[in-house]
Amino acid sequence: MSVEAGELRIPVVWSQDCLLHEPGGEVWLGLREAGTEVPERAEAILRALRDAGAPVLPARRHEIADLHAVHHPGLVRHLASIWADWEAGGYVSEHGRDRVVPYVFPTAAMLAGLPARPPAAAHGRVGLYCYDTMTLIGPGSWQAIRAAADAALTAAELIAAGRPASYALCRPPGHHAGPDGYGGSCYLNNAALAAQALRQAGAGRVAVIDIDAHHGNGTQAIFYARPDVYYGSVHVDPGAGWFPHYMGFAAERGSGPGTGANRNLPLAPGTGDNGWLAAVAQLCRDVRRHGAEAIVLSLGVDAAAADPESPLQVTADGYLAAGELIGRLGPPVAVIQEGGYHLPTLGQYVLAALAGVQSGRPAVGQPPASQ
Ligand SMILES: [Zn+2]
Repeated sequence: MSVEAGELRIPVVWSQDCLLHEPGGEVWLGLREAGTEVPERAEAILRALRDAGAPVLPARRHEIADLHAVHHPGLVRHLASIWADWEAGGYVSEHGRDRVVPYVFPTAAMLAGLPARPPAAAHGRVGLYCYDTMTLIGPGSWQAIRAAADAALTAAELIAAGRPASYALCRPPGHHAGPDGYGGSCYLNNAALAAQALRQAGAGRVAVIDIDAHHGNGTQAIFYARPDVYYGSVHVDPGAGWFPHYMGFAAERGSGPGTGANRNLPLAPGTGDNGWLAAVAQLCRDVRRHGAEAIVLSLGVDAAAADPESPLQVTADGYLAAGELIGRLGPPVAVIQEGGYHLPTLGQYVLAALAGVQSGRPAVGQPPASQ
């Protein structure tokens, strides 16, 4: 590892509220299991970055309207209110349902061309917004969801103000959340919020590079028809049987004016550092061609060799090298935490990636010229 104690200078944006989300496991294939998206993830990452000397800054609170930059107001309203509706409806006290879980989904097959009317019952309404059974909501979830979005927006503001790099310790993660739906342990799309904020702050073109082990179907969906925000992802091949199953294929290149501004590089299970880094390098070439003035890095470290959620077998040195490739591109980088579930190594992997970004950007930590 090239970062010694006291040397990581990338500011870490954090809110304690991110610990309040206790999904209480997940319903996977019909059984409720412990789940891996736990508050201890954020604590492990924070500890590793603090030990490496990184400055920690508080996430700044943003308005609800700021979340509408990439999300339908109906989704935001649902996330903000469903727990209270659930409690008031007696689902907890009378029926022992201690988390919000959908059971019916208005798929195209069910609706047969009719519009999806918002259901009167809370337990019917959940499936209108949540597309799987493993993304549960509990009493502190909304505070954490909002805090994670605040952290991402704050990280974007730091680089818009002239910092070469910033990092948002977002939990819950975000890249599976789409314009009007959530799933995959994600609720609001933190990376997409950061990318859109950078566009609104004046970057003519923005690139999102997603190196989480899974395809960021939500981020892709949000920017799919847009030429100004490139989305590139390297991930385990959904065609080999991996989440999100329905999206993330190489043929998905964007639509309409966004054609060509979307790139998926699905990899076979067991790919390892060399193949994974070759794919990251290809995304970097795309970003150069795109002419991005700011970069959002969706940093999932669940491609790690020991991670229980993917088979990609990438080492911490691999993440260090990926960070360097991205840091060397030139534009400022807002790093947004996505997945990563192996608690004993999680912090070291995030530190490795950030050390890579920093070593690719020698100016990290110097005061911005404008301040
Ligand atoms: Zn993932």
